[in-house]
Amino acid sequence: MADIIQLLPDHVANQIAAGEVVQRPASVVKELLENAIDAGAQTISLIIKDGGKVLIQVVDDGIGMSVTDARLSFERHATSKIRKAEDLFNLDTKGFRGEALASIAAIAHVEMQTKLADTELGSILKIEGSKITSQDVGAVTKGTSIAVKNLFFNIPARRNFLKSNQVELRHITDEFYRVALAHPTIAFRFHNNGNEILNLPSNNYRQRIVNVFGSKTNQKLVPVSEETQVVKISGFINKPEFAKKSRGEQFFFVNNRFIKSPYLHHAVVNAFDGLIKSDTYPGYFLYLEVDPAAIDINIHPTKTEVKFDDEHTLYAILRSTVKHSLGQFNVVPALDFEQDQNLETPYGYKNKGAEIPRITVDSSFNPFQEKVSTKSASSYQKASKESHQSWEGLYTGLESEIGKEDSFKSIQFESDTITGSVFDAEKETVESKSTTFQLRRKYIVTTIKSGMIVIDQSRAHQRVLYEKFLKNITVKEAVSQQLLFPLSLSFSNADRVILQEIKDSLHTIGFIFGRIDAETVEIKGVPILVSESEVGMVLDQLISDYQLEVSSNSFSQTDILAKTLAKTLSVKTGEILESSSQTTLVNDLFACKESLVSPFNKTVYVTITENDIDKKFI
Ligand code: ADP
Ligand code: MG
Repeated sequence: MADIIQLLPDHVANQIAAGEVVQRPASVVKELLENAIDAGAQTISLIIKDGGKVLIQVVDDGIGMSVTDARLSFERHATSKIRKAEDLFNLDTKGFRGEALASIAAIAHVEMQTKLADTELGSILKIEGSKITSQDVGAVTKGTSIAVKNLFFNIPARRNFLKSNQVELRHITDEFYRVALAHPTIAFRFHNNGNEILNLPSNNYRQRIVNVFGSKTNQKLVPVSEETQVVKISGFINKPEFAKKSRGEQFFFVNNRFIKSPYLHHAVVNAFDGLIKSDTYPGYFLYLEVDPAAIDINIHPTKTEVKFDDEHTLYAILRSTVKHSLGQFNVVPALDFEQDQNLETPYGYKNKGAEIPRITVDSSFNPFQEKVSTKSASSYQKASKESHQSWEGLYTGLESEIGKEDSFKSIQFESDTITGSVFDAEKETVESKSTTFQLRRKYIVTTIKSGMIVIDQSRAHQRVLYEKFLKNITVKEAVSQQLLFPLSLSFSNADRVILQEIKDSLHTIGFIFGRIDAETVEIKGVPILVSESEVGMVLDQLISDYQLEVSSNSFSQTDILAKTLAKTLSVKTGEILESSSQTTLVNDLFACKESLVSPFNKTVYVTITENDIDKKFI
């Protein structure tokens, strides 16, 4: 049989390699940014069009390349960063495989301009699918600019596999943050579709974090610092009270390279044990420095995984360092006193002083007397059995007191609340109305034919609001209230990027935006159910939920928005509801398409039948 083995042509080999290196536009961004850093750039600009599908360009002011190097740089295994195998164990550059540019050029249209500092003219190169289509010498600025256009133009299957521009942009932004946070002394700019969305001046680590995540971040950060023979740890953790449900702000850098390490993540989470709720995650920005010979970053083509020689020791050091910082900066007591106070105090009470309890005694009350107050008895008799009359008499003294109280004034036994309506004679006389009362500021209890139901007030309200918002979004024009004076709110750079992404969807639920510039976002109109004072809080929540569940199709994007609005604006556990609000809530709930579960799939109410109760008395 004839020989059948052949060497693959270079362009095929490059395309195969590209599959490993370039998964999506964000991978190109990472490689180009890293090359610019390796080239010693002080200022780096990233320019993106349409989620990177149309253009990804990185411009740097680094050392540049000679005419020959410019050509060679697109060859596979062409690198200036290692010369012999031993160099692999002493890396101080990001790249070393010499594969990135060759891979990118195999699957896109690439234009490069590059010039060394001490030459007058530079090179201008164009490559399409591994083939150089033009090479010129011309006047270009010092440094390198690489523009990658029409990614995957020759691999339609890969191109179709890309997600929406929004989603790809999100991945690019994540990649950009990782690089920018690892190199705070390098200035970065980021343009998307012609708008500058980030401008980060050269800075220290703390300031860089604050520049990226907003000025509010500064107060959240607690410094971490430790130096041992194995590792030097620096950076910041977020105070426990700022732990989030999202895994957004968690960054490990090893020798200034972003890495993912579930094992080290566990060490940090472990240090926070007992300080944060189990379903939340601490934020951290931790910079580890280890001897390059003690790690292997070669195990993954995209190089976000690192193998440490002595992982167990690292785990222990990291955990105790984080613990130490939490203790040293007195983070623990702050949690106990500041946070809980707000959690425990219902909104209506927040700014009120304590009132002396008043006790009114009905002097004519005689517990041994069978007769009860006519008003309440007559109304109650209709709904319940005769035999109940005697115990109801116990409340006659309180009845008059309740009548006088307004708003959420209600009788409170310890933390229980029983609103006036149950004993309110006037309302009770409406025979068809069933009774509602609030239990422990958490549940609404109401009677039905077969017994009673206990409704979780917060979940019920979420369901009602959720369906209302969905209807607004999908069925009719969004109901919006125009603000007399537009609001001007400031957001972090990162949040503004997301706001730009979801602006159109927010419009469909009733937000009207004016100018969005580097400092502020102008809001001209808000959804009808959102009050002016809540706008900032609602938008913050929308942004962070969106981050959590980036979604590509518009249906689920509206779904996320509706859920977030419902969650944010709903009545919370701990809030006291007036009887009229209780009734409205119950009626609205049962008018919903689905009343049994909340938008987050939690049970909204339970039914307790007469039979269930009877069983308890056997
Ligand atoms: P690697 O970074 O692994 O060496 P790349 O394919 O990314 O491989 O780049 C190949 C070579 O091209 C680099 O080793 C470097 O010499 C050169 N190069 C790439 N980008 C730049 C840049 N922005 N400035 C200067 N030289 C660059
Ligand atoms: Mg490289």
